[in-house]
Order: sequence, then structure tokens, then C-alpha cells
Amino acid sequence: MTNRLFLTTAATVLAVSGLIGAAAPATPVGTKGAAGAGDPLLPLSGDGGLHVRHYALTLAYQPKAQHLDATAVLSATATQDLSGFDLDLAGLDVRRVTVDGAVVPFSRVGQKLQISLADTVADGADFTVTVDYGGTPHPIIDADGTSDGWTALPGARGAFVAGEPQGAMTWFPCNGHPVDKSTYDVTVTVPQGYTAVSNGVLRTQHTAAGRSTFSWHESAPMAAYLATASVGRFDVRQYWTGRLPVYTAVDPAEKNDADEVLDQLPAVIAWESSLFGPYPFDAAGAIVMHDKTIGYALETQTRPLYDEAPDLDTLVHETAHQWFGDSVTISRWRDIWLNEGFATYAEWMWDAAHGGATPHARLAQLYARPAADQLWAYPPADPGQLSRLFGVPSYARGAMALQELREAVGDQAFFAVLRQWTAAHRHGHGTTAQFEALSAAVSGKNLDALFATWLYSAGKPTKM
Ligand SMILES: [Zn+2]
Repeated sequence: MTNRLFLTTAATVLAVSGLIGAAAPATPVGTKGAAGAGDPLLPLSGDGGLHVRHYALTLAYQPKAQHLDATAVLSATATQDLSGFDLDLAGLDVRRVTVDGAVVPFSRVGQKLQISLADTVADGADFTVTVDYGGTPHPIIDADGTSDGWTALPGARGAFVAGEPQGAMTWFPCNGHPVDKSTYDVTVTVPQGYTAVSNGVLRTQHTAAGRSTFSWHESAPMAAYLATASVGRFDVRQYWTGRLPVYTAVDPAEKNDADEVLDQLPAVIAWESSLFGPYPFDAAGAIVMHDKTIGYALETQTRPLYDEAPDLDTLVHETAHQWFGDSVTISRWRDIWLNEGFATYAEWMWDAAHGGATPHARLAQLYARPAADQLWAYPPADPGQLSRLFGVPSYARGAMALQELREAVGDQAFFAVLRQWTAAHRHGHGTTAQFEALSAAVSGKNLDALFATWLYSAGKPTKM
């Protein structure tokens, strides 16, 4: 994510919309999946008792009425014996839930869609959940004051759909924590003249009776927060870069500014591939909306979503997330620096490779900031609270930690670490502890003090 507003965002804004409460629903004892995947920063997100292998989402959206009508089919596997389980779904009306074709009772408690099973599903067994639902989706106001989720644009201009950290549940029932990754089919029907853009490859597109339907397929595992189904009246471009199909959708009002930057996408992908290893997905692209009041861009998998024409640094940042965040995904939100520090460091390296300041100069320039600067507000690997997730330390101090590592181990070991990291955890998860261990193993150095200082210590380090 790149958030233009984070410098001015007050950490005291705690508005939370609708029924999204801070209190966890009571966890029944027995064989029900745990309420929440166990993340201290977002304790309600996800369910500990199941893995969703695949989501098949069929949506119909009316931009004028801002109405969504949908069916979600979840192919799941029980990870414990289950007498019931919860999905995340905020707002919207649920009409019917079936499990393996049989109608089952459900209830709504806050953001949880609680589903009861007639017969216990055994640990390891596969089952299919179908949810019919609809209504007007509303975004969630996060702890830092920004919003995420399905965001209708005024004037029937469409919808900006970005889910980090918890907005996926505003438009589909999900196991909404990044620890669970799944493949996706997303089919969206919109009025003719609109285009619906999701992740992965566009398989089919047809128009009949004034409605257009777009069917997208994401074949690589994806965290729910990285899914999108953004809608607009886009100028669409499709082309190939090597064997990679590129699909860009740009609001015509942003076209002049966006085209020049998006033309660099193949070069950015090639350059980042040379540093980070093979591009992890079978599709690429961009979605550029025209609503700068949203204030951020998100690395939606294969096809980042921009609220306005991105600048080149932002394009480099969101593209780097395809390796760091999308392919290698965090298991706990506290590890967010593994996404943002790396994507920021990619910007530093791009600038240096194109006549800008060296990463060492950037490190020195940032280190010169006074001890009271928000750069030192919290250690990047331990944000401590949700409102800090996308604060300056996750980005800039995270990138500083990487430059410190590079200077300690040398370029050869540093880039070997980056490539081994993306290869070992490709389409999976990575933790800060695993990154530390890999860095030590590859370099043969004891890096405990370096990481303790740059990732875990509060305040400004005593030396650079
Ligand atoms: Zn980012």
C-alpha cells in the first residue's frame, strides 16, 4: 500500500462503522472453529478451523443504485473437527447458506457470519459452502482513519475495491485473515459501458441485453485482502510483455497522466525480476481510478489498484509488492514491514539505478531526523497497535533496516537473501523470524544485534 495521507492521519481516530465491534464474539467450547485466526492486531479476522482452497464469486453490481447481488461458493477443508464455523462478512443481507448442498442455519454477530453444521465435518474433510447475499456494500473505517473495502464512487462512476487490512468482508464472505490463501474465480456483471476488473487472467467477457459480464481467474494462492472487483468506465489496454499478459484499466480522466507511467510497467517488472527472482504470477496490469479523496493505492494481486494516476515510485512500490506481500504473505499483521519496508526499499533501489540518491544516502538522510520524529514512533517489526500498521516506521524504518542489513552482509549476500526469500516462500507465507534466520544463514554472520536495533528497539538507534 502507498498511503499519501498517512503523514497527516491522526492515530486517535477510532471510528468503526456499523456493527464492527471491538468485542470478540464468545467462542463456544467444543468443535467450533476458533473465533478469529488468532492475530492480536485484528482478533476477529478469519477462522482458525478451516482453510478455503478456492472462492468462486459471482457478482452483479449496479453502480447507480450501488447495489450488489452475489453468490459465493467456498471450497473449504476442515483443519479440525467442526460442528460449525464463522466467516467474515460486514453488512449486506444473507439470504441462504448451504453446506454440501444442504441448507444450514446461520446467524450474524458483528462481522461474523456464524454457520452451524448438522453433522460434524471431520478434520481434513473437504466441504463446500454456498452463500447467497446482497445489498449495498459499505467500506470499513480502520483504526488509522482510512477506509477499506467496497467503496462506491459518487455519480455512478463505479467502485474502488481494496481490502487491506480487513475490507474483503465488505463484499464477500471470507476467511478474512492473510494466513489463509486461496485461488479465485471472480465473475462480475455490470451495466453495459462499465468494466469490472479483478485479479489474474480475464477468461471470458460478453455483453447481452445491456449487461456485460467479466470472468476472471486467479490461479495462484491469494490472501482475501488482495482480491478486487473494481468497476468503472475504463479505457482498457491489453498486451503481452514476454509471456505475461498485461491488462490495464484506466479512468479516462487519468489517462494522460497514467499512460506515461504505465508504459514503464514492463520495464519495472523486468528490473524487479532481475533483483527479486521470477515474477510470481501469470498476469499483470493496473487499475487506475479517478478519486484522489481515497488517498491510497493497493497492491491487489497481479493488478494493483490506484486511486489516481500513479507516479513512477508508486508503480515501482506496488509492483514490488507482487513478490513482497502478495506471493510471500505475512502470517501476522505485526510483520507488515516485510511488505512495506521491502516495497519502499525497491523504490530506493529504482531511484538509485536511475540517477537518484543511493540507498546509503537515503539511510543517512533519514537517520538525521530528530529523535522525536514519527520515523522513530515504534519499531517496525512490532507496531503494537492496529492504528500504526501503515505508519512511517513500517515503510521508511523498514527500508532502513534492509539497508543496514545490506551494509552488514555485502551486496552479494544481500541479493542472495532476497532471491532465496522469494523462492522459499513463493505463494506462501513468511515471518520476520524466518527472514532473520535466512539472512544469518546466507551471510554466515550473527545479525542478532542488528535486527534487535533496527526492527525491535523503540526510539532512534544510537548509531547508524
Ligand atoms: Zn505498500
